Amino acid sequence: MIVHPELRRAARHARRPLLTATLLQGAVTLTHLAQAVLLAVALAALARGETDRLPPLLGAVLGVVLARAVLASWQRRTATRAGARVRVRLRDELVAHLGRLGAAHLTTARAGAVRTTLVDGVEGVDAYVSRYLPQLIVTLAVPPLLLAGLAVVEPAALLGLVPALLLALAGPRAWDRLLAERGKEHWDTYEGLGADYLEALQGMPALRAAGAVGRTRQRLEERSAALHRATVAKLRVSLVDTGITDLAIQGGTAAAALLACWSAVTGSTTATGTYLVLLLSSECFRPVRDLSREWHAGYLGVSAADGLAALRTAEPAVPDTGTVRARWPQPPEVRFEDVEFTYGDGADAAPAVHGVTFTAEAGRTTALVGPSGAGKSTLLALLLRHRAPRHGRITVAGRDVADYTLDSLRRGIAVVSQETYLFHASISDNLRLARPDATDDELVRAARTAGIHDEIDALPDGYATVLGERGATLSGGQRQRLALARALLADAPVLVLDEATSAVDERREADIVRELLNAAGGRTVLVVAHRLAAVRHADRIVVLDGGRVDAVGTHDDLVRAGGVYTELVTAGRTHEGELAA
Ligand code: ADP
Repeated sequence: MIVHPELRRAARHARRPLLTATLLQGAVTLTHLAQAVLLAVALAALARGETDRLPPLLGAVLGVVLARAVLASWQRRTATRAGARVRVRLRDELVAHLGRLGAAHLTTARAGAVRTTLVDGVEGVDAYVSRYLPQLIVTLAVPPLLLAGLAVVEPAALLGLVPALLLALAGPRAWDRLLAERGKEHWDTYEGLGADYLEALQGMPALRAAGAVGRTRQRLEERSAALHRATVAKLRVSLVDTGITDLAIQGGTAAAALLACWSAVTGSTTATGTYLVLLLSSECFRPVRDLSREWHAGYLGVSAADGLAALRTAEPAVPDTGTVRARWPQPPEVRFEDVEFTYGDGADAAPAVHGVTFTAEAGRTTALVGPSGAGKSTLLALLLRHRAPRHGRITVAGRDVADYTLDSLRRGIAVVSQETYLFHASISDNLRLARPDATDDELVRAARTAGIHDEIDALPDGYATVLGERGATLSGGQRQRLALARALLADAPVLVLDEATSAVDERREADIVRELLNAAGGRTVLVVAHRLAAVRHADRIVVLDGGRVDAVGTHDDLVRAGGVYTELVTAGRTHEGELAA
């Protein structure tokens, strides 16, 4: 019964509507009590043969029933509104926090598990906060009042009711710990299964190619069976819980009825008193029964509370402590100064990059090349502050990137990476993501530069074509060029192309890069590419090897100097030769 701090916190998002919903829930319960009292009086009148008193009493019962219908629907509406507010605020808060956590978080947390917490977990919290909590308060408040009332009419009735109520409320608490454990197991399995399904669906082409679909299906079946077992285990405990409550409710009601009969037989109370004891003692348990029902609705919220708290309080890899807004009227210079970074806690791991110093001149194109694992992506992650260097610093426009607010820094640097993300929306909506107010002409200009305009134009619906999930209607190359157009439209002073043209064929790649560099129109561009065709026209090429800068120069300088760059050129040719053969 102790409310999880995370759920209490969630409830604060809708304090007033929740208070109203609780008061209304109390009012609904009062109508049940009023009805019980009126019926007791009516039955007593009937027993005494005073039939003329019946019509007004039954009329009053009808009035109470109608009032309850109105109050109950008002209560539901208020509770639903409160729940919706909690849901929206909680999701907003979590999504904003995920944004602050940045890409680095999603490489360690599984996207599917985060999705489950964000969608199902928050739904569970809604049910808990908007349905269970108001009922909990009513259940704690009403039966004691009722008992006090009954004590006046027939004190002996309390002998059966008090122990039964205590058992109904406190008995299940003995199982709380076990229930919490089972709930956590269930939630973890549920989250894991969600993540597995998402990965299997997203990775279907890879699974097919590797002939692993059958094995994956088997693994998913095993996971589903595990979820089934976890559900049954949880249900078993939960049913014991419900069983105790039911036993107490029925035992208590039966005991009260026996006491009422006894008092009627011995004549220690009036007929009205007997009927009151009979009907009101049953009413004592109504809130407990209702609470038990709402518990099942809100149970998922309790299981998800830990996951929600973990997500909400996860620390970003890099804190957002900068205070300067990144606003660069001119394309800025980007400088890496003696930068060192190690993944993990770095105690025994080798640094991924160290002693890296180079300048990407303002308004020029600088290429980063090097064999796989050389540290190219790490440097980009450091520039965008998804990670912070352990030593040295990175400056943009002469200022340490740590001084800028994360949001403005990332807005100022448009990135096109190998993994393009397109949404299930129209092409123009996908393009306008970074600049909602862009005109149609601007869309076309960006698309032309990225070499995708003609293909969009050839589609039956042109720019209004709605893309499938993750842009499935387009080929890999088309998706990349669309992402490129989107980045150009973002109009950020710094443009980063991270293997951005890798899904495009080589001739086209050279054309696009040339076009792009023209269109970049004086932006500071950083190009990371494994194919040298994409970088040979760069103003400056930085060759990385094993986390260090091996050489810096133009294509011709580097070819002349030999070293890693020449090896890359030769390897590239051999590779092309293999492809051609
Ligand atoms: P590149 O982009 O040039 O292929 P990376 O920057 O991805 O190189 O990798 C540089 C080094 O850092 C490699 O040794 C790689 O194994 C390591 N590394 C990259 N990402 C991670 C990570 N998330 N956790 C641990 N090590 C990593």
